Amino acid sequence: MSEFAIVNEMENKTLYDMAIVGAGASGMLCALQCARAGKRVILFEKEMQVGRKILVSGNGRCNLTNAFVSAADYHGATDLAASILKQFPFDTCLQFFHELGVLTVQENAGRVFPLSGKSTAVAEALRLACIEAGAEILLQTEIVKISKQKEFTLTSAKGEKFSAKKCVLACGSCAYPQAGGTQAGYKLAQSLGHNINTPQPALCAVNVKEKAVARLQGIRVQVKATAARGTSAEISSSGELLFTSYGLSGPAILNISGTIGQLLNKGPVTVELDLLPPIADKKAFLKERAKHFKTRNAKGFFAGVLHENIANLLIDFAGIRKNQPVLEWSENTWQTVEKLLGRWPFTIVSLRPWKEAMIATGGVKCAEINYNNLESRCCQGLYVLGELLDVDGRSGGLNLHFAWGCGYVAAKAIVEE
Ligand SMILES: Cc1cc2nc3c(=O)[nH]c(=O)nc-3n(C[C@H](O)[C@H](O)[C@H](O)COP(=O)(O)OP(=O)(O)OC[C@H]3O[C@@H](n4cnc5c(N)ncnc54)[C@H](O)[C@@H]3O)c2cc1C
Repeated sequence: MSEFAIVNEMENKTLYDMAIVGAGASGMLCALQCARAGKRVILFEKEMQVGRKILVSGNGRCNLTNAFVSAADYHGATDLAASILKQFPFDTCLQFFHELGVLTVQENAGRVFPLSGKSTAVAEALRLACIEAGAEILLQTEIVKISKQKEFTLTSAKGEKFSAKKCVLACGSCAYPQAGGTQAGYKLAQSLGHNINTPQPALCAVNVKEKAVARLQGIRVQVKATAARGTSAEISSSGELLFTSYGLSGPAILNISGTIGQLLNKGPVTVELDLLPPIADKKAFLKERAKHFKTRNAKGFFAGVLHENIANLLIDFAGIRKNQPVLEWSENTWQTVEKLLGRWPFTIVSLRPWKEAMIATGGVKCAEINYNNLESRCCQGLYVLGELLDVDGRSGGLNLHFAWGCGYVAAKAIVEE
């Protein structure tokens, strides 16, 4: 048999209304809405199961949206985020999942999780609904090439060919490769005429130069973290910080890690930690406390204020003698303590690797996308969704909300056409 005959045999003769590449958050939602409206939909997933990032999200609990979601929570093309939120606000998102049969619970800071406490509740609800609506899902089918003449032709890694009137790229970003993250979406988008803003790890911990940080490993504190290059403060974030063996993690750092990554491209970055964010005037606070506890040593002075290990490290950094009573501290010591409490500096060396980054900044340039329906301006009939776009959100359910929203908006436009 000739090679030509083999390839022909692998051609799927069906002309689908829509071919969707990637059965993640945005792809499944788009597939479901289109299939429900009677479109003939085929959904390709390179992994053995759908929605692997949904499954690992929120520590396996899936923080699927946020009651306070707003365009200000996003970086990159914030106007595009605003357009998606206008068409798919929080209430619409919640109603969508309730109608899908997912019971939810709202926790602190507006974060919404499935009531079952497991992300499978979300991924499985979407998978089942897609199948019930008649969408075809092909697992372990990686799309490696897409070409467009009158219709789109999609070629899988195994050489199968599929034809569709419209094509949706919902491949996600290259973050967290162990759950499906890949460069494939950027490459496919580029092959169809798009430009890519270079992706960088985000929602990602940082490595710091100061080895002593390892002494604080595992401690969680509420801080305000301010990242700076040189003397100018660039970005701040308040919330929980987690000290690790290599550096800093936790929402307060993760939420500014995208900007830190960009700053690192231009030179060294310092992050200053305010360990007592509710106390604006640290000097007055220290003076007042000194009146009450002047005979105590440093450890006793900080008892009730700081975690014991943090206090010990601060005492070492400030060069305070262990048994020296507070009343003997020099002016210099007070100034150092005040600085360390309010602006403790750490030097960021690098971001943690892609396999630890929850999302990526960068992606398909949004100027090349129609903000109303997510159709490509470079290739008619092509739609680009979710994290593949140059939009990224802070932690707390914003990235999944954006992904669902993209699927919803694109499907609505396609169905109404
Ligand atoms: C550890 C972790 C925790 C997270 N926690 C949260 C959270 O709690 N809340 C939140 O809002 N966000 C969270 N996120 C982010 C969120 O999961 C993503 O932003 C979201 O899944 C992006 O949706 P998407 O549809 O763009 O891409 P994805 O959900 O990543 O889906 C893309 C799919 O496309 C497939 N694919 C790619 N290329 C091809 C190809 N060529 N052929 C076939 N298939 C392909 C991939 O295998 C993947 O299944 C987390 C991410 C990680 C990694």
